Amino acid sequence: MSAMRHLLDLCKRRGFLFQSAEIHGGLRGAYDYGPLGVELKRNVSQEWWNAMVYQRCDVVGIDTAIITPPAVLKTSGHVDQFTDEMVDSKLSKDRFRPDKAPTLHFDKEKMHIPITAPDKKTAKLWEHEIRTNLAPGSSISREGKSIFLKMDKFNGSEIILEQESGSPVTIPYKGYVDPASNSPFLTEARPFNLMFKTYLDPIDPIDKVITTTLDGTKTTPPMDLSQTRQSVDKTLYPSLTYLRPETAQGVFINYATVQRSHPHLKVPFGIAQIGKSFRNEIRLEHAIFRTPEFEQMELEYFVAPWQADQEFTRWRKSRMDWWKRFSRNFETRFRERAHAQDELAHYSSGCVDVEYLFPWGWGEVEGIANRGDFDLRMHSEATGIKLQYTDTILMQERQQREKATGVKKTEGLDRERFIPHVVESSCGLNRAMLALMLDAMEVVDEQGKIVDLEQQMASIIGSTDNNKNWRTVMKLHPRLAPIKVAILPLVSNNPDLVDLCQSLSSELRAELQIPVSVEMQSTTIGKRYYRMDEVGTPWCVTVDYESLQDGQVTIRDRDTGVQTRVHYSKILEIVRDGLRL
Ligand code: ATP
Repeated sequence: MSAMRHLLDLCKRRGFLFQSAEIHGGLRGAYDYGPLGVELKRNVSQEWWNAMVYQRCDVVGIDTAIITPPAVLKTSGHVDQFTDEMVDSKLSKDRFRPDKAPTLHFDKEKMHIPITAPDKKTAKLWEHEIRTNLAPGSSISREGKSIFLKMDKFNGSEIILEQESGSPVTIPYKGYVDPASNSPFLTEARPFNLMFKTYLDPIDPIDKVITTTLDGTKTTPPMDLSQTRQSVDKTLYPSLTYLRPETAQGVFINYATVQRSHPHLKVPFGIAQIGKSFRNEIRLEHAIFRTPEFEQMELEYFVAPWQADQEFTRWRKSRMDWWKRFSRNFETRFRERAHAQDELAHYSSGCVDVEYLFPWGWGEVEGIANRGDFDLRMHSEATGIKLQYTDTILMQERQQREKATGVKKTEGLDRERFIPHVVESSCGLNRAMLALMLDAMEVVDEQGKIVDLEQQMASIIGSTDNNKNWRTVMKLHPRLAPIKVAILPLVSNNPDLVDLCQSLSSELRAELQIPVSVEMQSTTIGKRYYRMDEVGTPWCVTVDYESLQDGQVTIRDRDTGVQTRVHYSKILEIVRDGLRL
């Protein structure tokens, strides 16, 4: 995982990503985007919007509310089904998804389960816990931070431990362990809804529950917990809302309003949205890969039922082309993974994940799904509002035919009026940013040879800080780069050089509307180039004494290191051409 550690170190040092509320001790899973991170994130979302909306005449955008009434999410199935399985780890007091945990290793020959604690102290505590609470008197041995839980019998689902005295102890074995604590002691798996609830009410919900359910201080609460739960839910329901778990539902509930306000939109057409979504994830992992608060870039493309399969195939290709455009290692690090039949939602006839080869393995960055008419049909049935599409031309032709023949048909209207099917592309903005940064990052040694971070840095703690001669180049696509051009005066205490730099930077900003940085540090030009390489700046322009005489400056290309002497008036053109790529 050294590539990830290296990247996170760089992100913090250079102002891409910070742990949120760090000065107050931080909040797990919450990140703030620094001055460079915000530019990169904005560029990724802008490129998505550009490809999905501006470059097409059949897609419009929308921006819907985050706070969502329960009716919407009940209809979409999220209230009842947007759950993960959760188990608790007794020892670590942690929660996790069983499917994400590795299988517990059972050494059949030695008839024991090796348990590795993070350190010796924890191993001692665990040993004590196992001995006294879970398997008193059982045979356990410990070497450093490894505990060996000796089993006398194992029947495939239970571990049976013989005790020195008394009857044997049986521990249910679920076949998974908490990856953080590597502890096998778990509760039963239970469903856990991933949505964040909130209450739109000036009265604190806790006060409300107490006063309503306990009737002041006079009545005692029902002792039955499920009754208490029901009574609490009933009390709070009128003000209950959710933070949306996806942006898509905002599009579906606006299908009719968008259609009415944009009657020129004929199927197939799409509605795109970029915005925040919230999921109370059981396990937060890999920095911004999985967080409770994240951004999604989603397109809902409405098609006639007979167009769905073809459009699904077309969107898969189109989305892969988008990733290809911004990736340097597309062939080896991106792939499509089709969902197996038993992974598909009951209404879906096809779904593929776009996956990136992260340092810890393949991970989803986008899902593309053929969702049928499920979404519009469900909202239509729940509200009684017809969410359908009418082909006005076909309808008029039909009416004319009926007028001419005098025969009015009430059946066979399928081509003229139908509930559109939906092809969806759903991409995580933060995950996309993480994948594109890892994809762009290249570390080179003193000889300019690329370093395989996973293999060679495993033994080096603290990445490049420990190896000053290694350089990192973030080979981001120029359109994604947070700073497009850096302008470097040869020395920063010469007012004429600084003036020329400032006027060149103002011109670039005004003409191209791009972020330009004037790098005034007193370090060498070489060091300043490397600092810019590290944050992915595609072009550095150096202004020296000769520039004052003949207007010639040096432009350096980040990826090749090639330096070219050109008149400063040419810079605008070079950058403009480079950004068109
Ligand atoms: P996963 O299986 O990784 O939990 P998912 O299948 O639940 O993802 P979708 O519901 O298809 O994800 O959401 C679409 C996209 O939103 C994902 O491909 C991912 O890029 C992004 N996404 C989903 N959950 C998160 C999260 N908690 N943090 C960051 N991005 C997320």
